[in-house]
Amino acid sequence: MGTTTDESRHEVINPASGQVVRTVDLASREQADEAIARAGAAGPAWRAVAPADRARLLRRFAEVVDDHLEELAQLEVLNAGHTIGNARWEAGNVRDVLAYFSAAPERLFGRQIPVAGGLDVTFKEPLGTVGIIVPWNFPMPILGWGMAPALAAGNTVVLKPAELTPLTAMRIGELALEAGLPEGVLNVVPGKGTVVGERFVTHPGVRKVCFTGSTAVGQGIMRGAAEQVKRVTLELGGKSANIVFDDADLEKAAAAAPYGVFDNAGQDCCARSRILVQRAVFHRFMELFEPAVRGVVVADPAEETTEMGPLISAGQRERVRSFVEDAEEPVDVAFRGEAPGGGGFWYPATVVLPRSTQDAVWQDEVFGPVVAVMPFDDEADAVAKANDTAYGLSGSIWTRDVGRALRVARGVEAGNLSVNSHSSVRYSTPFGGFKQSGLGRELGPDALDAFTEVKNVFISTES
Ligand code: NAD
Repeated sequence: MGTTTDESRHEVINPASGQVVRTVDLASREQADEAIARAGAAGPAWRAVAPADRARLLRRFAEVVDDHLEELAQLEVLNAGHTIGNARWEAGNVRDVLAYFSAAPERLFGRQIPVAGGLDVTFKEPLGTVGIIVPWNFPMPILGWGMAPALAAGNTVVLKPAELTPLTAMRIGELALEAGLPEGVLNVVPGKGTVVGERFVTHPGVRKVCFTGSTAVGQGIMRGAAEQVKRVTLELGGKSANIVFDDADLEKAAAAAPYGVFDNAGQDCCARSRILVQRAVFHRFMELFEPAVRGVVVADPAEETTEMGPLISAGQRERVRSFVEDAEEPVDVAFRGEAPGGGGFWYPATVVLPRSTQDAVWQDEVFGPVVAVMPFDDEADAVAKANDTAYGLSGSIWTRDVGRALRVARGVEAGNLSVNSHSSVRYSTPFGGFKQSGLGRELGPDALDAFTEVKNVFISTES
């Protein structure tokens, strides 16, 4: 695990080798305050930039990210242990999200509302300075999902990457200046959650906190934000269900299931870490799933052919291990893949058969390459089992019956469902959780509402 040498420095560790990549200075509380002050000072000029010019700057920012796509991707391999294929997609996602929201400054429409005695209009105004707190599992996309709509709506940003993975965020902060964003508009502040992150919550100069991370920390942020009635968006944990009905294309479902849970070594809030299979096809599904799991290429993430890399840290590997090897109730491992040895934080793709829906491996977010599989009887049983968790982020439904797909999609309490697909995220559609998976939505057209206040103005026309 990345070892903090002292309170002011942090060694970033390459998860594939365990070697130090770089040592990063961590901001103190005073330095966090200075960054918030810089963002506050830059606010009036940034919100006064003409909409077409703000749009142009964001498009330019997207182009500069695109020019540095390979550099960012290679850096993410070292920073977070992501496979080079995924890291390229992730850098491309930052570009795409910036390009998508670059259309927003000229389309932040208010309304004209019919009232008696005058003209009533609404304006969508920026909040001011927004604090964005990013986790280590997807350092680049999550940074972009907060930063792009916040900037487009005329806010300034202070952004804290996770302690373990600050490098790509720091580079993107430099690229923003290269693209011509004025000084102070985007401030990347590497630091500890308990220092910089908490300061975003307590400092009155930050008007909103956009947090992605664990449910426990998110709950603390919501409590802290209440003090100043500060706005929050929370994107938290998940325990998503992958539901396979007996009329599904089983070959397709079994081939896609590893991608649905082992992508990013399972360190994905949308990971379909519970597979529910209709009883009549349970054995057939497992026969197809086993070679798909054993076939996942787990190797050096810098290699083009690698499909799954290491976990982020020794601590995370220990946490994952404890769910399988040290569970209170013994967990049956159905089968697992291979993992390399060496100095990295490796763990094999693992399929387990929980004995009850109360087992920790069925209820809790493992955040590693472990998937639990269980049979179900009928639609009602599938929906009940899918909903029997505190989370509600994502999920998949495999069936050829469109009516059933819609019934089950309406029944599952989750923010993002896919039918006959393992994918969760499209930058032009809303993303977020039900229940303890979060509050608010990112991405898509509605994301701008999370970064604006509505102001109503009435103008009397009476003489
Ligand atoms: P984490 O909650 O430990 O940390 C997330 C961020 O919060 C880090 O930057 C951390 O430094 C900061 N932080 C920690 N304590 C803080 C505090 N007291 N005040 C303010 N900030 C603080 O989470 P993690 O381990 O980095 O990330 C993994 C978690 O993130 C998983 O639970 C995962 O499901 C979740 N996640 C959710 C989504 C989503 O969109 N719903 C996406 C990715 C990850």
